[in-house]
Amino acid sequence: MVTVNKPMDLPREIDLIFSLLSARGYSAYVVGGAVRDHLMGRCVNDYDVCTDALPNEVEAVFSDFRVIETGLKHGTVTVLIGDSSIEITTFRTDGSYSDGRHPDSVDFTRDVIKDLSRRDFTVNAIAYSPKEGYIDPFGGCNDIKASIIRCVGDPIKRFSEDALRILRALRFSSSLGFEIDKETSDAIFKLKSNLALVSKERIRDEMKKLICGDGMSNVMHYYRDVIGFLIPELTATFDYDQNNPHHDYDLFTHTIKTVAYLPKDPVLRFAGLLHDIAKPLSESKDENGISHFYRHAQSGAEIAEAIMKDLRFSNTEIKRAVTLIRHHDGVIEETESAVGRKLSKIGVDLYFDLLDLQRSDNASQKEDTSLRAEHNEVLRRIANDILKKEPCLSLSDLALDGNDIKDLGFKGKEIGKALSILFDAVINGEVENTKEGLTHFLTDNFKD
Ligand code: ATP
Ligand code: MG
Repeated sequence: MVTVNKPMDLPREIDLIFSLLSARGYSAYVVGGAVRDHLMGRCVNDYDVCTDALPNEVEAVFSDFRVIETGLKHGTVTVLIGDSSIEITTFRTDGSYSDGRHPDSVDFTRDVIKDLSRRDFTVNAIAYSPKEGYIDPFGGCNDIKASIIRCVGDPIKRFSEDALRILRALRFSSSLGFEIDKETSDAIFKLKSNLALVSKERIRDEMKKLICGDGMSNVMHYYRDVIGFLIPELTATFDYDQNNPHHDYDLFTHTIKTVAYLPKDPVLRFAGLLHDIAKPLSESKDENGISHFYRHAQSGAEIAEAIMKDLRFSNTEIKRAVTLIRHHDGVIEETESAVGRKLSKIGVDLYFDLLDLQRSDNASQKEDTSLRAEHNEVLRRIANDILKKEPCLSLSDLALDGNDIKDLGFKGKEIGKALSILFDAVINGEVENTKEGLTHFLTDNFKD
């Protein structure tokens, strides 16, 4: 819903910023995502302010507040007011872009229109102030109404200046559910290889947002050549016939369906995106001509690890996604001991992530997958029942510790071995995790 005439309801800190700047004769606007999201009727959390005051002038105006020189070179200072930190950026024009990534120089200007014209998309190039209302020189309000992402100015020029904008277009198309205008879209395909100029960290950050957007499936399919440029290992899954009665869809379609079913957690969704990446490499055909993909989970985990390292995901994120991929096709029996073993092996959080991945994976194989969905629910129930009962999920949860075992006459390496035997026995339901039960178990099984 677009409400162009409706004034923005600004938080008190922003009102204060406007009045302090205005009292010194400066102009100021809210700009970018906040204005766009407000016009779409979305909730706004982050307000960026732009002004004609130069950075040192901004610092002088806010001398009673804490001010951080966030990006002085680019004209940005952050002002801390109460619990909020607000970025205030001086209007600027960008110089030439010789590296396809950053402007060689930035110049400050007193003209808001010039500042808006350096911004990436029309929907992000609207400024608002309570005094002047909306300043929309590039038709951003109409594009919001029509749900369109369109470059400000010539797309070829804008993507050549900064290739990250290519991926930002996909990200906004996904997160806002907007179509990309034809001319902008043509330029995306034409210049996709310029993404090689962009840092992996920036690609990772945009990909995380893209993969969690409502329009993710459409974007991933329509722009799969761009995604394939960023993650070449995925291209083998495009139109790949799985040639197996358990699968109705080609591998890339199956993959994207899996991602779409997953909660909007970027790492979990990356695990979904990469979970079958090794299938084309693992294919073998049986005597009936049906394809199988033995060990694809294991090899997929290795390939995913390399991809995520390359994209500079953190070690914790990589470990989480890779563990899920490695375990994604393992069958868990519907018994307390099997579920207990899995819980202790991968941990409680990963266990539920794994069930999310398995449920999404199964739901994306065929039209009717209700049976396997039921199995997934049973595995959740069993785990929840176990967790209600003070479960034994690691050696330290055992009712006996190393000293107790020493007191029973075990020495040196025997102690560790006894602990691990007890742990397996508890997880397998052979013995209750009580001091008495474990002591009996040890003395019965190791009389000598
Ligand atoms: P989000 O809600 O995801 O934060 P946003 O529109 O605020 O969306 P930011 O990445 O925070 O996006 O950028 C703030 C604004 O800065 C954008 O709205 C846009 O006007 C401008 N901008 C950001 N990155 C670029 C870029 N690479 N090229 C041109 N303009 C950009
Ligand atoms: Mg923002």
